[in-house]
Amino acid sequence: MSSRSSPFILSLPKAELHLHLEGAIDPATLLELWQKHGKEGTLAEVEQLYRYADFNGFLMAFKAVTEDLRTAEDYELVTYRLMEKLKAESVLHAEVYVSVGVCLWRKQDFDRIFEGLERGRERGERDFGVSLLWIFDAVRQFGAEAAQSVFELAARYRDRHVVGIGIGGDEQKGPAELFRDAYAYAADQGLRLTAHAGETAGPESIWGALNLRAERIGHGLTAWQDPELVEELTTRQIPMEICISSNLRTGCCRELADHPVRRYFDQGLMVTLNTDDPAMFRTSLAQEYQLARESFGFTDEHLRELARNSFEASFLPAEKKLNFLNLFDATVVRP
Ligand SMILES: [Zn+2]
Repeated sequence: MSSRSSPFILSLPKAELHLHLEGAIDPATLLELWQKHGKEGTLAEVEQLYRYADFNGFLMAFKAVTEDLRTAEDYELVTYRLMEKLKAESVLHAEVYVSVGVCLWRKQDFDRIFEGLERGRERGERDFGVSLLWIFDAVRQFGAEAAQSVFELAARYRDRHVVGIGIGGDEQKGPAELFRDAYAYAADQGLRLTAHAGETAGPESIWGALNLRAERIGHGLTAWQDPELVEELTTRQIPMEICISSNLRTGCCRELADHPVRRYFDQGLMVTLNTDDPAMFRTSLAQEYQLARESFGFTDEHLRELARNSFEASFLPAEKKLNFLNLFDATVVRP
């Protein structure tokens, strides 16, 4: 994969819709956290944490990185650093997953953590002009009750830039049906709904997410296996949060050539490109666009469409979304 992105891609206004805060912490920042917490180690040792062989290894690596997120200040720091990076690639808006399920499991004081998150967001918005909304993510394998607790916190902070909820993790151990009541509760609270689905399980898991009334699908890698599902997703223009490098690095997709991103686009699905966990997958949003161009033959015109989709598929309030789309249309020059 090319690590250099073209000036066109770097300057293209983009939104990112599938981005985990904890997976965006680069090794240098993690080393800083280590030092802050009196942990000894070198950058090479930190980098070792980011190495894994498969999806389970990745989940363990993710967990190891989150162990060093302890105080509100830690969360503030990683949020601010993330927004700085977004700005550098013209990512004007991001909807960022926070693994609230993991915080609760660790019995952390989430109310304090949230203050740190918000301080980081406010400073990032002020210094970099980046817009950010939070999505509270529950862990599938922790079960429905734990998810309910996560969604209740999302409802509590709904007026403070928390726009929606999601579930991620092990689709086999935590099938969508378990979360029916929790999702209904979240919808009642005015939260927007998304779900990781069809990442490590088949199309039935994506149907399951649609049955939860998920408005967007995280990954949807296996949707192509079911033509009826593809038709449903296309007709309803359900946004797909596609994360190409993620799928390759976790081994959910064996070969780059097997990735369905181009097929989905040609079939008329609403495709958006995302990084998932940019530090853990050694990518960035600009690199994902570059990859789409180099490996799947997306033209600049196609990339414009994908970038526009990213704003269209956002959970921004109608007026703000329109502002972004108007800005996009005014600044992005047609060939
Ligand atoms: Zn994800």
